[in-house]
Amino acid sequence: MSFSRNCDIGFLWSELFETFDFGRKHPIQPGRFQMLHDFIEENGFLDQSNVRIIKPELLPEGLLRKTHAADYIAKIQEISDTGIGDIDIDTPGFKNIYFNSRLTSGASVSGINAVMSGDITHFISPTGGFHHATFEKGGGFCIINDVAASVFALKEFGLNRILIADFDVHHGNGTQRYFYDDPGVMQISFHEDPEWMFPHDGFIKDIGSGRGEGYNINMHFPMDAGDSVYRYAYDKLVPPLIEFYKPEFIVFIPGFDAHYKDRLAHLTLTTDMIRYVSESIHEAAHIHSSGRMGVLTGGGYTQASLKWGFGTVMSVLTGHPYEPPVQTPPFIDDEETWNTVRSNVQEVRNLVFPVLGI
Ligand SMILES: [Zn+2]
Ligand SMILES: [Zn+2]
Repeated sequence: MSFSRNCDIGFLWSELFETFDFGRKHPIQPGRFQMLHDFIEENGFLDQSNVRIIKPELLPEGLLRKTHAADYIAKIQEISDTGIGDIDIDTPGFKNIYFNSRLTSGASVSGINAVMSGDITHFISPTGGFHHATFEKGGGFCIINDVAASVFALKEFGLNRILIADFDVHHGNGTQRYFYDDPGVMQISFHEDPEWMFPHDGFIKDIGSGRGEGYNINMHFPMDAGDSVYRYAYDKLVPPLIEFYKPEFIVFIPGFDAHYKDRLAHLTLTTDMIRYVSESIHEAAHIHSSGRMGVLTGGGYTQASLKWGFGTVMSVLTGHPYEPPVQTPPFIDDEETWNTVRSNVQEVRNLVFPVLGI
């Protein structure tokens, strides 16, 4: 598949991204965003004629207040001023966190604006995908839910069918809550089994409510699941859903933390799968959404696999070649894994497809 011929890609970048500080022991390491920037620069992506740097703006106040409760915003500001206090148990506060989180989340919305104005076809932001924050509170390394803010920004442009395709290994629980009864947003989340994986939400039975019933799709995988079962689930679920929904914009979170080298979770994908999903979503954006899509990086807590995944997605979007090293996951999908995944896929289809009329 080669849809990259006429695509202009915006890479969101500011050196001020690196004003965040969760501390050296946190999985989101200082220097993370600079590392991704330097990696794609070293691999020639920033020299491509179809790639441009886009400077992010702060998340506008109006969108911030739509995305989060006044009490919670006040709490971020207070931590920001004093440098004392935490957002949540796993999400430390730091001085100037208010500025930093408005910049990193503002990058996602700046990308949306650049695509919607026609300046670029796709954007990719190294700081996006903070899908665990809810209206009332942050957590799970997330301060401001930039996925929700991006959707609110797209709604301001008058869009009525927005797809969030979230392949981060953790369920997008925050985002799910914002749009649970809203058919204007379809959220597809592929993640590890919430029985044992944070945030312990994202069960198959949770398919949305009211007018939004059927538009919230959760597919989860057992520990050690790899490329072959993942590809099976993808093929059985995602293309028919996209074909049905015909999204006007796709917000894509690739799922770098589902890679086998990433040990914050337990799936065992390689970048072959990340490429497969990225190509398919990219193609869908060109078929249904006039190409309009934005990539929010999401998780990824091992340097090597995060870089390989990021390079792979950049390669799919830009057409510039990039080959990560050969990867050998520690497991192959066995009969038990296949049985669980087949059964989960069938359950999703049985619950969701009849409601949507697929
Ligand atoms: Zn494209
Ligand atoms: Zn994650």
